[in-house]
Amino acid sequence: MEIFDEIHLQDCPYCGGAGLLEEESGMSWYVICMDCGSRTAAFNYTSESDRLKTAKSAAHLWNIGKIIRETPGD
Ligand SMILES: [Zn+2]
Repeated sequence: MEIFDEIHLQDCPYCGGAGLLEEESGMSWYVICMDCGSRTAAFNYTSESDRLKTAKSAAHLWNIGKIIRETPGD
C-alpha cells in the first residue's frame, strides 16, 4: 500500500520499540508502539483525499515524540 511507502516511523521514544501505523474503522489513523503500547492520538479523516495527509500527521506526531505513554498496571 502506497501510504506505507511514504511514511517513515521512528522508533518508540520511550522504549525503542517499533511503531505501527494503524487505521481504525476506515476513518482515523494512529501510531502505536508494538512493545509498550504507547500511542498517538487518533487523527480522523473524512474523505479519501485527506487520508494520506492524515496518516502523515499521525506519523509526524509520533516522530516528534508527542505520544500518550501507556503505563503498565503492575
Ligand atoms: Zn514503546
